[in-house]
Amino acid sequence: MSERWILLLAILIILGIAGASTAANQTDDASTAAVLTGSDSNYHTKVVLLGTTGGVSWYPETGRASSSSAVVVGDTIYLVDIGQGSASRLSEAFNTGDFVETPTGRVENGSSTFLSHARALFFTHLHQDHTADYPSLLLIGPGAGLGTSIDPKTGETTISPLQVIGPGNRGELDADKTNYTARGGTIIYTDTSDPEAITPTPGLRQMTQTIMQSFAQTINDMTLDDGYRDFTKLITVKEIGGSEAGDIAFPVPVIDPNNETCPSMAPFEIYSDKNVRVTATLVDHHQVFPALAYRFDTADGSIVFSGDTGPDTNGNLQKLADGADLLIHEVIDPAWIDLKFGDPKPGSQMAALKEHMLSSHTSIDKVGSVADSCRAKTLVLNHIVPGNTPVTNLERVAENTSAHLIIGEDLMQIGIGRSD
Ligand SMILES: [Zn+2]
Ligand SMILES: [Zn+2]
Repeated sequence: MSERWILLLAILIILGIAGASTAANQTDDASTAAVLTGSDSNYHTKVVLLGTTGGVSWYPETGRASSSSAVVVGDTIYLVDIGQGSASRLSEAFNTGDFVETPTGRVENGSSTFLSHARALFFTHLHQDHTADYPSLLLIGPGAGLGTSIDPKTGETTISPLQVIGPGNRGELDADKTNYTARGGTIIYTDTSDPEAITPTPGLRQMTQTIMQSFAQTINDMTLDDGYRDFTKLITVKEIGGSEAGDIAFPVPVIDPNNETCPSMAPFEIYSDKNVRVTATLVDHHQVFPALAYRFDTADGSIVFSGDTGPDTNGNLQKLADGADLLIHEVIDPAWIDLKFGDPKPGSQMAALKEHMLSSHTSIDKVGSVADSCRAKTLVLNHIVPGNTPVTNLERVAENTSAHLIIGEDLMQIGIGRSD
């Protein structure tokens, strides 16, 4: 081989290596998220999935709890939703305890305080698969440090209320699309001595107050007899769309929640501290209103939770999630909808219900293109409905997205940005 050919070959090899290394870098840039195992869990910022299904049931042959996630920055915990079964997952994920050897064996040293690391809880909407374990958190949490903070130097415990942020009063009862009242169905109202506060659509503040009222006997026993702190001081509630001082207003007027659940809007800030800035937007989970998506911006990257939504949010999710490192998005299996609803007569109530399920949730076939339209780097499937759908069905999402795909599982940890 002549020297010229050897030189050309050498140049081609060098270019090839450079090309390969650029491609590798691009892959790294495109995916800053990693599913963590025990040996590499030193990420400063991570998401822990506490419940990865949704819906109003329990699905056989699956251990998935209902919707809940934690964003963890350093040792501070921020929660998003707390659906059925997820309070136990919260304990499994974070409640390491302080055990000591005693003459009779290994015993926990006092009570757990792991919830002293939880600073805020954000509700995407008030459906029960996102809220059912909220009473557990309010009632059992005070025995595990809820609403307190512990000085790492002195060990002193002070009250530091958990900030709970979520939907205000819907303002208007849902349109009756099933002839429910005509068939003699009961509409439930809150019962209160304040006539102004009687409502069939209570927001997060009234929901919290009425949970406390329902469990007044045990709460009063805990404080009067057992030395617990004032339960009502361990949380503060802020409503999105609420009307009390300190509540958060929508950036645009919402005219008719029964017909337009997500008017086009710019994302708006709902919370910030030294670790995170949280912004929100309305999504389309009609007739639920408000239904919100949240974005957490941290020094290590950005995480977006879609909440429950159909694929068309009037561009709102795209504005909120633009370029997100992690888009944690709900998904529903259309094969299950087909089995559940069959092939109903066009125009029938069943046909309308089937259409509703498909338009107020996002199917396996559509979630990939939603992620691409948000330019999300990694798509995490969450709120997997039904919870027992085969993983092979969910893997089909990869055919429709250029985002890195992660199929969520309870207690999965996903790190973003730098690891120590
Ligand atoms: Zn849900
Ligand atoms: Zn929902």
